[in-house]
Amino acid sequence: MPVGHITNRQFRRYMDSRQIGRDQAGDAAVDRSFDHANAGGVMAPVHPGVLGQDDQNVGIVGEEGPTQLLGWRRNGDAEHARILVGIFANIILRFIIHDIYVAYIPGRLMNTTTNAIHSTSGSAAAASPSRIPITIAVGDGIGPEIAAATRLVLAAAAAPLEFHEVTVGERAYLGGVSSGIPDDAWQAIRTTGVLLKGPITTPQGGGYKSVNVTLRKVLGLFANVRPCASHACVPRSRPGIDLVVVRENEEDLYAGIEHRQTPETYQCLKLVTRSGCERIVRYAFAYALANGRRRVTCMTKDNIMKLTDGLFHRVFDQVAAEHPGIVADHQIIDIGAARVATRPEHYDVIVTMNLYGDILSDIAAEVAGSVGMGGSANIGARAAMFEAVHGSAPDLAGKGVANPSGMLQSAVQMLVHLGLPHPAECIHNAWLRTLEDGVLTADLTSSGAVSTSAFAEAVAARLGQLPQTRAPVAYGASLRIALPDIPPLPAEVREQVGIDIFLHHVGQPHDLATSLLGVVGAGFDMTMITNRGVKVWPDGHPETICTDHWRCRFMSTGMVAVPFAQLLALIGRLDAAGFDVIKTEGLFYFAGKPGYSAGQGA
Ligand code: ATP
Repeated sequence: MPVGHITNRQFRRYMDSRQIGRDQAGDAAVDRSFDHANAGGVMAPVHPGVLGQDDQNVGIVGEEGPTQLLGWRRNGDAEHARILVGIFANIILRFIIHDIYVAYIPGRLMNTTTNAIHSTSGSAAAASPSRIPITIAVGDGIGPEIAAATRLVLAAAAAPLEFHEVTVGERAYLGGVSSGIPDDAWQAIRTTGVLLKGPITTPQGGGYKSVNVTLRKVLGLFANVRPCASHACVPRSRPGIDLVVVRENEEDLYAGIEHRQTPETYQCLKLVTRSGCERIVRYAFAYALANGRRRVTCMTKDNIMKLTDGLFHRVFDQVAAEHPGIVADHQIIDIGAARVATRPEHYDVIVTMNLYGDILSDIAAEVAGSVGMGGSANIGARAAMFEAVHGSAPDLAGKGVANPSGMLQSAVQMLVHLGLPHPAECIHNAWLRTLEDGVLTADLTSSGAVSTSAFAEAVAARLGQLPQTRAPVAYGASLRIALPDIPPLPAEVREQVGIDIFLHHVGQPHDLATSLLGVVGAGFDMTMITNRGVKVWPDGHPETICTDHWRCRFMSTGMVAVPFAQLLALIGRLDAAGFDVIKTEGLFYFAGKPGYSAGQGA
C-alpha cells in the first residue's frame, strides 16, 4: 500500500490482506490506545461513521517502515480499528481509528536499522515537550547489540521518548574515569531521572568499582525489581513460573568495604540498616498490592547471621503484620534458592537482601529459560535505572547472537515507570507473541536460532498482536508505586561495655591468652578469644584450625559503661606489649540489650 491517503475500502482490503486479527482488541484496549495517542500527540477528529462510506478518506498509511496494525474489531454496525505506527521519511505517524479519529505525532529523523536512531537534541533540557527525556548508556560486551535491538522496538512502538546517550563503563574506565561514570553522564542521569542501561564490564584489577553498584548506591536506587515468568514456547522453561524478586540494592556485602588485615585474612563488611530493611520490605508489599500479587516470601540466613539477617527478618515480620491480606512467609535462603530452582511455580513475590537477590534472580531467570530473558528496574525516590539482569557476556560480544529480551523487558518496566503503560503492554505482548511463534535466540534453542537484530525485528513486526497461549499482559494505569517514607528511629541509650580487639598473631590460643592476661590490667576482663569466629579460649577444641587472625573480647568489669579513654589505654597497653593490633569493634548495649554476637561455641 502506498504512502498517502487511503479510502475506507482500501483500508479494509489492507487489513484483510495483512490478516489482522479482528476481535483482538476489546473496547477498553481501543479506548486506551486512543487515550495514549491523545496524550502523546495531535488528535484530529474525522467524521464519525465514515467507515460506512467506502470512498471516504480515513487516514494515511505508510508502508516504508514497520507499519503495524494493532487490532480491528467489528462490533455490530460500528467498526473500530487502530494502526499503531507508520514510520516513513522523517515523520512518525501514529494512527488511531476509532469511529473515526486520526492522530499523528511529528517526530524526528528515524531509521529502521538498529543503530541509527538519532536524537535531534544533544541536551536533556532541550527535550521536545511531547517526549519524555531519558538517558541511555549502551554498555559493554553485548550491550551495544541488545541496546540497538531494544531501541528498534521502542521506535517501532512509537514510545514517546527523547534519548540522551552517554558513555559509562569500560570506555570511561579506560579513558581515566575511575568510577566509570563521567561527569556528563551524571548530569544527564540527574536531569532526566531515568537511565536505560546496557550491561557493563568492570575491568579486573586496577581497583575499578562496579558502575552498576555505584549508580544504585549513589542515586539511592534501593529497590531492584526482577520479574520472571515461564514461556511454554521456550524449550528449557519450567512451566508455571510467575515470580518477582524484590532485591535490596544498596546494603549488605555490596557496600564494597573490604580489607586485607593479615597475610592470611581478608574481610568484607556486611552493612545492614534498619531503615534500609524497612524501605525494601515496605516496597515489596506495596508492589504486591499494586500488582495483585498474594504472597510475599522473605529469604535470609538469620539462623547464622542473627543480627544483620535477623534484622531483615524481624522488620519483614513487623511489616507483614500490617498486611493481613497478603500471605507472608520466611525461608532460609539456601533451601529457598534450592526450591526456586526446583519448584519456582510456588513463589510470587520474594523480598531478600542484596547478595541473595542477585543470585536468586539469576537462578529464577535460568529456570524460566535463560538469564538473557530477565529485565530489572532499580527504583529510587529521585531516579530510576533499568537494565537486564545478566552481565555483559563478553564471550558473545560482537557475534549478533545475544538475546535482547532482558534489556527489552527492562525497557518495558521503564515505560510503566514513566506512566506509559500502553506502549509497555504493546511491546510486552508482541514479545510474548514472538516467543510463541518460535522466534528464539541461540540461548533458547539449539536449532533455527535467529540473530539479535532479527529477534528485535520480529518483535517490532508483532506490535499489536497478542499472545495466544496465555493471557495478554495489561499494565492498565501507571503502576508507579508510592515509595515508603521511613520515619527516623526513636533515640536509644547506647553504652559501650567492652571492645573486641583483633590481632595478627601466629601461634597457639592458650599461649596467646596467657600473654594477653598479663597486660589486660584493671577495669577489664578478657572473656574469650575466637579464630575466624570460633571460640578457641577458654575451653577451645584441639581440632579447630587456627589462622593468623584473632578476636580478643574485653568486657568492662561489672559490664558497666566504659569511657573511651580507658579503651584507648587498653589498646595502648597491648601495643606497648608487642601485640599487633589490626582493628577494633566497640561492644555496645542499646537500651539495655547487647548489640553484638557471641562467638561460635561460646
Ligand atoms: P555479571 O557479573 O556482570 O552479572 P556474569 O559473569 O554473571 O556477569 P553474564 O555476563 O551475565 O555473566 O553472562 C553469563 C553467561 O550467560 C554468558 O557467558 C552468556 O553465555 C550467557 N548470557 C548472558 N546474557 C546473555 C544474553 N543476553 N543472551 C544470551 N546469553 C547470555
